[in-house]
Amino acid sequence: MTKVVILGGGPGGYEAALVGAQLGGEVTLVDSDGIGGSAVLTDCVPSKTLIATSDVLSAMSEATGLGLHPANGADDLSGTVITDLGAINTRVLHLAQAQSGDIATRLVEEGVRIVRGRGRLVSVGTIVATTSLGEERLEADVVLVATGTHPRVLPDAIPDGERILDWTQVYNLTDLPERLIVVGSGVTGAEFANAYDALGVPVVLVSSRDMVLPGEDPDAARVLQDVFERRGIEIISQARAMSARREGDGVVVGLEDGREVRGSHVLMAVGSIPNTAGIGLEEAGVTLDKRGYVTVDKVSRSSARGIYAAGDCTGVFALASVAAMQGRIAMWHALGDAVPQLKQDTIASNIFTAPEIATVGVTQKDVDEGRSTADVLMLPLASNARAKMQEFTDGFVKLFCLPITGIIVGGVIVAPTASELIHAVSLAVSQRITVDDFAHAFTVYPSLSGSVAEAARRLHNHGKMATAELTN
Ligand SMILES: Cc1cc2nc3c(=O)[nH]c(=O)nc-3n(C[C@H](O)[C@H](O)[C@H](O)COP(=O)(O)OP(=O)(O)OC[C@H]3O[C@@H](n4cnc5c(N)ncnc54)[C@H](O)[C@@H]3O)c2cc1C
Repeated sequence: MTKVVILGGGPGGYEAALVGAQLGGEVTLVDSDGIGGSAVLTDCVPSKTLIATSDVLSAMSEATGLGLHPANGADDLSGTVITDLGAINTRVLHLAQAQSGDIATRLVEEGVRIVRGRGRLVSVGTIVATTSLGEERLEADVVLVATGTHPRVLPDAIPDGERILDWTQVYNLTDLPERLIVVGSGVTGAEFANAYDALGVPVVLVSSRDMVLPGEDPDAARVLQDVFERRGIEIISQARAMSARREGDGVVVGLEDGREVRGSHVLMAVGSIPNTAGIGLEEAGVTLDKRGYVTVDKVSRSSARGIYAAGDCTGVFALASVAAMQGRIAMWHALGDAVPQLKQDTIASNIFTAPEIATVGVTQKDVDEGRSTADVLMLPLASNARAKMQEFTDGFVKLFCLPITGIIVGGVIVAPTASELIHAVSLAVSQRITVDDFAHAFTVYPSLSGSVAEAARRLHNHGKMATAELTN
């Protein structure tokens, strides 16, 4: 029996453990902070559970256009409810713990042995786990490192868990902040700024760039920036936060240009650091890049024979879905099953703001910088009948297809349910479906997915029209 030892119980680790057990491996999973990892306990699951509540309030705040007016003189329906942050966060934390418990139960049922402790490699095939009972030595034919990341901390803005917070600490709040400063306008910063604004908290977003969501589709970022400004989120652009300190009942965030921003709380969302230091990786021959991420190939192999790596610690794509796929691929490869390589140009992702922003495959940047010759078509949602009925004014569908064949190679959807709508485009990208075949499939009328099919239909003359015409 092949002995598999996995370090880290997040999606990279636990999904690998399930495949390892399915393929007949003797699997031991060592985890230090809770099965499910950061994905389940502090990052993905808690934030999306919080957003499930904030989404309801977002919808209520826009319902006046549907003829629903508050009875008590509030500006909109969201002003008619009491937002109990203590209850919201209790629900968030319970749900995360329950999800962690469900995953642990499933692992045990599948025959995976769970060791609760911190693991480190002492040689290529030997791991030592430090547990509450002492040290345990584990021998392995195959090792998978799936240790994830932790929040980056600025030296002069150390989180205190009360008013200076990282994203793992926000769920301890029982009262709504009076004024929340969010530092960082990447995906995490944008999601929290959006959620707290919807909960009724005045939000200041400190962004080091011109626009929110640097690195994302620029048209999508523009929509979100406009929505944020319209909702009254104060965006301080081109401002780099250098420090955060407590002062009286509040916090003061110091910017690089000397300005100071005052609020009741600050949430630092300035990136992540891989959990790869001090666990014997380099000593075992595992190459780390200069930022500390494990270098892996498309089947999750590190540079050391028998040692694989998956998830955020590889720096490939910080998504739970990618971590899980990398972990499964590692096991398929190590235990001799058929192995599909990780194809980064088919990865779908979503930003859970209102509206949501979902993307897959080729990007606008790829086209603008000449890495892709794809034709591009962007269709605003405002022309969609369902969107009109539901009063959605912000958003669009953008499709990318190859100029000769019309094969769909990418897409961006900005819409309230973009995370669901993107699946059809994702399927098209992974199965190399053409715009014509895509457009010939039925959609429901009226539906937002009708706009995705319409975008494909308008790309019928792909390759015969200049990209500039198509994007107009
Ligand atoms: C706020 C936020 C929201 C997010 N939302 C989404 C989302 O909606 N969708 C999505 O796809 N992704 C989301 N992500 C990203 C997602 O959380 C990560 O991509 C995912 O957690 C990566 O999984 P992983 O298995 O690599 O690591 P993790 O989930 O971080 O798990 C690693 C585990 O390993 C443990 N560990 C570390 N070192 C050791 C050691 N030496 N020994 C034993 N155990 C160890 C850790 O304690 C942890 O339990 C979000 C991230 C953030 C920050």
